Amino acid sequence: MVFAAPGKYVQGSGAVSRLGEVLGQLGSGSPLILADPIVPEIMGDALEGIAGATHLEFGGECSPEEIERVAIAAAENGSDAVVGIGGGKTMDTAKAVAHPAGLSLVIVPTIASTDAPTSALSVVYDEHGAFLEYRFFERNPDAVIVDTAIIAGAPVRFLVAGIGDGLATYFEAEASSRTRKQAMAGGAPTSAALTLARLCYDTLLEHGLAARLAVERGAVTPAVEKVVEANTLLSGLGFESGGLAAAHSIHNGLTALEGTHHYWHGEKVAFGVVAMLMLEERPAAVVEEVVDFCLEVGLPVTLEDIGLEGVGREDLEKVAEAACAEGETIHNEPFEVYPRMVVDAMIAADAFGHQRRALHTGEAHLPAVAH
Ligand SMILES: [Zn+2]
Repeated sequence: MVFAAPGKYVQGSGAVSRLGEVLGQLGSGSPLILADPIVPEIMGDALEGIAGATHLEFGGECSPEEIERVAIAAAENGSDAVVGIGGGKTMDTAKAVAHPAGLSLVIVPTIASTDAPTSALSVVYDEHGAFLEYRFFERNPDAVIVDTAIIAGAPVRFLVAGIGDGLATYFEAEASSRTRKQAMAGGAPTSAALTLARLCYDTLLEHGLAARLAVERGAVTPAVEKVVEANTLLSGLGFESGGLAAAHSIHNGLTALEGTHHYWHGEKVAFGVVAMLMLEERPAAVVEEVVDFCLEVGLPVTLEDIGLEGVGREDLEKVAEAACAEGETIHNEPFEVYPRMVVDAMIAADAFGHQRRALHTGEAHLPAVAH
């Protein structure tokens, strides 16, 4: 069994003010700060006064070309650490630069839209945003700093997408633990990872709606803190040491279709979760709990919710072929999975989503976040 985690996790309103202190603890005197273009605006002077820092703006895609560009900048500046500040792709690029070069790594997510911050892996895409590969590293980030005031100031769609990503964690960890398959961390899942994954699911169901409503108004409440912790820490540790399965493979397959490119990782994962439950013949009560929760917080439950209105079987076959490619985590499911089964599971998930939405029309369910 293997359990992996970052060296330190710091979360709270105003937490980014501790970046200098954390870099000092790591012995860094010349960090390369890779940040999204919006970061100077949202962080104000929080980044000033970081000793010896070189600032670089992220190019927008975690692609082999961008990783190369940032790696060259780190080498030219003699950087001893990389700080990745922004969304999932920025963080993944920072990891892909820091680890191979043996540099310290601090991750500062500005949104809680994925569980990427704590893990030792990057998802690499081509320049057009299609999934290329996972890159695995030997170490997790040295520190992850999550400032909930910044998270709550970002559009609510990011938090909701992170809830979608976190929704997958328990089901995927459970599937891969049943087969005792090796998780991303490099061994069979520990009880600790499974327990964290379950806590992630329970926390989202209990506090997800309250957190969405608070963040819509820019407020940081205890529910927001709990959901940000679930999206980031619990889901991150849960998936990395617990294992991924069908939901993420279906997400990866969906990226093959252009229509889904305007939707976030966690939004597509949420649909992947429902399709996974169909594939696994889960009881209707479990599917209903998940789909109704998605409707409640505004996550996609149908194919048209992720940009695939009127999609044909031929296109779904492309998705399923990609989802079942060799090395995909769908093969962590405790039974053989073939593309035909995945096509049917997606069609069934879509039908179930339509059915539940129709049933709830007129009730107090939030519409999916506007795109
Ligand atoms: Zn994910």
